Amino acid sequence: MSAPMTEAAKPPPHMTGCICEQGSARFTEFDARPVGCDETEGRFADVTINRCRTCHRLWLRYLVEYEAFSRSGRWARGLISEEAAAGMTPERAVDHLNGLEWYLYGGSYFDGIAGRRSGPMRWGP
Ligand SMILES: [Zn+2]
Repeated sequence: MSAPMTEAAKPPPHMTGCICEQGSARFTEFDARPVGCDETEGRFADVTINRCRTCHRLWLRYLVEYEAFSRSGRWARGLISEEAAAGMTPERAVDHLNGLEWYLYGGSYFDGIAGRRSGPMRWGP
């Protein structure tokens, strides 16, 4: 007889097992649409909406890279609804990610490790 699932053992919400939920999913798994560049605090972040070619869900991707600093590249990618994606602006992208129950992240800043997290993350150099 199996024990009831504890809170910690529950899978995170909105997970379907699709490839797009992996931090290591390649860009070729998505159709990307540029949202623009977020210049907040000089970040010049690249903001895109990515649609998974397999399950067709939308992801908001936020990416920074500081040429003056090695291993500064980092990105975050979180689910976004069709409605929110339609009204998304570069400046609102970080707020959207911070409000999610989880999002994916990775990049050279994290030694190339990709994972899943929630809450604000450091975007400055
Ligand atoms: Zn998918």
